[in-house]
Amino acid sequence: MLKESGVVQGLKLIDSHVHIDLDNIESELEKYIREAERKGIKGFVITDHIILPNIPASDYLIRGNKVFLKDLSFLKCSLTTADIKRYVNVIKRKESSGVYLGAEIDYHEHCEEKIKEFIGMHPFDVVLGSLHFVDGYCISRKMEMRSFLDKLPAVDIHKKYFTEVRKLVKSRICDVVSHIDLVRKHSTPVRFDDYSEEASVLVDDLLACDTGIEVNTSGYVFMGDSYPSADFLALCKEKGLDKITIGSDAHKAEKLGQNLERAVEKLKRVGYSKIVKFKNRKPEYILL
Ligand SMILES: [Zn+2]
Ligand SMILES: [Zn+2]
Repeated sequence: MLKESGVVQGLKLIDSHVHIDLDNIESELEKYIREAERKGIKGFVITDHIILPNIPASDYLIRGNKVFLKDLSFLKCSLTTADIKRYVNVIKRKESSGVYLGAEIDYHEHCEEKIKEFIGMHPFDVVLGSLHFVDGYCISRKMEMRSFLDKLPAVDIHKKYFTEVRKLVKSRICDVVSHIDLVRKHSTPVRFDDYSEEASVLVDDLLACDTGIEVNTSGYVFMGDSYPSADFLALCKEKGLDKITIGSDAHKAEKLGQNLERAVEKLKRVGYSKIVKFKNRKPEYILL
């Protein structure tokens, strides 16, 4: 590994968005480490969802995150101190194997201080901020998005979504916004031009708040493209946003690093020559 003016070379394949089953975290983490070695992945960040008490969440996140939410109902979800301590300790012990400690936190308006307080209590390398809910609909769930589309035109949902993401960015709770155009996942197609104004002010906010984005490759499986779209990425490039991570959003060891090369190709096509990874919430640039 060479260091040249703050840029690390030769660490191309860092998967900065990975989930793990907390119930079996020790054995699962060993599997992930073996899988990373097998695939030549130099490091990965565990970024499980954190759901805090008394913060709105849908049953999607609750069911999807039984790891953290052992005894819960729709409105009462909690991550105990014991859970987070174990999560932090197990992951931190594997630092020398290229494992980083992260979290993915959903933005909910009026809960910013509670979220910040929680984040500040733990030694995360990176915090991903995400927005899965708009007007109470979980837009990453097909059926919920369908109901939402029955109520509002897709273009309006896109605009609403990006307005909410702007709030997430301006709250400064995260280092990186994950899957920044997730609204595309189950939507009927909307032309980028129809929401480019919203996207443009969002990128301005990202720059003003020194917040990065990721190229999230999980979209290749669901919709044949990663998040964000090439148009969105080109806008970021044009405006000078260069803090970009890549992540698979894998929920199983075998998916670790899936399609990261495609993310790299996409970034190169748009004109990017480096990405970032975070350590202690500080970015380190990596040449592609
Ligand atoms: Zn997510
Ligand atoms: Zn995720």
